[in-house]
Amino acid sequence: MDKIKAISLISGGLDSTLATKVVLDQGVDVMAANFVSPFCRCDHGGSRAHQEAGGQGESRGCRHEAKFVSEQLGIPLRIVNVTKDFLEVLKSPKHGYGSNINPCIDCRILMLKKARELMEELGAKFLITGEVLGQRPMSQRRDAMHIIEREAGVKGIVLRPLSARLLEPTIPETEGWVDREKLLSISGRGRKPQMELAQRYDIKDYPCPAGGCLLTDPAFSRRIRDLIDHDELVMEDIQLLNHGRFFRLSDKAKLVVGKNQHENEILESLSAAGDYLFYPAGDAAGASGLGRGDFSQDGLLRLAAGITARYFDAAKISQQVAVSVKHGPDVQTLTLAPLSDEATKHYLV
Ligand code: SF4
Repeated sequence: MDKIKAISLISGGLDSTLATKVVLDQGVDVMAANFVSPFCRCDHGGSRAHQEAGGQGESRGCRHEAKFVSEQLGIPLRIVNVTKDFLEVLKSPKHGYGSNINPCIDCRILMLKKARELMEELGAKFLITGEVLGQRPMSQRRDAMHIIEREAGVKGIVLRPLSARLLEPTIPETEGWVDREKLLSISGRGRKPQMELAQRYDIKDYPCPAGGCLLTDPAFSRRIRDLIDHDELVMEDIQLLNHGRFFRLSDKAKLVVGKNQHENEILESLSAAGDYLFYPAGDAAGASGLGRGDFSQDGLLRLAAGITARYFDAAKISQQVAVSVKHGPDVQTLTLAPLSDEATKHYLV
């Protein structure tokens, strides 16, 4: 560990991979750091190269993509889970949200603070990011970069190799730890220079091509906003947001209904003590719903059952359907009419 000079913030995306490679090529010892939050969406089937390397295409998440990238680069990786701090930032970001519920400036401040802590722990000298000037409207503007560095306490020690020659020289450059002339001057939202650089480095595939953060997704953002507004922004509830349709039934009760068999099974597996599970009674087929919160209010159980029943196969042909409602060891059956499309939409977040 003594030889490590730089910590590179690796996301699993192309830009941070290239930025690290540019510095590695100058003979600098680099260690990768991946800061994990619940909002990374690099959990698709994986890259071709990853599958060829044995990934088989199952969902892995960002930390696995970062692991893959660091292995390809031949550098060590430290994975740091920042979920707890991130949720605090997300509830009330000092610098506000972007066009969705992405608190980009505060998020970058948090990540760089964590990176600085790691840097100090390892005795490293500077940080590397894959940021590109002007690529993202909120956090990759020149003025935002200054604010982020100042508030994270990392002024002068963040090297952005892809845009470095468009930015003020940093300490690693002025100290001669890296050669500024060999750094790049990429800016803007286009991807062409990165693609060309990837080709030059023979990086044919990379796990998370577009990067990706669920907080920039409008539908996901609406659901997160709903949890914040109801003081329910906790991991157990965030996990529900990725699976199925999300309904707000009352200030204290919500329902998630699976869109397919896979989601139904996930919802059933996420069901915790105190939750309600709604599903077709007997051998009937259709969606499962997971209700969480306080369902003691009159009519709420029937409302949740009616919404879930709207997605039963039988709802297309029957006026009345039977819904099993499981709560702990107790199971009851409610026979009711599925809620209409219009009424269902009213509760959909
Ligand atoms: S897009 Fe998401 S991960 Fe990226 S800076 Fe913004 S909040 Fe952070």
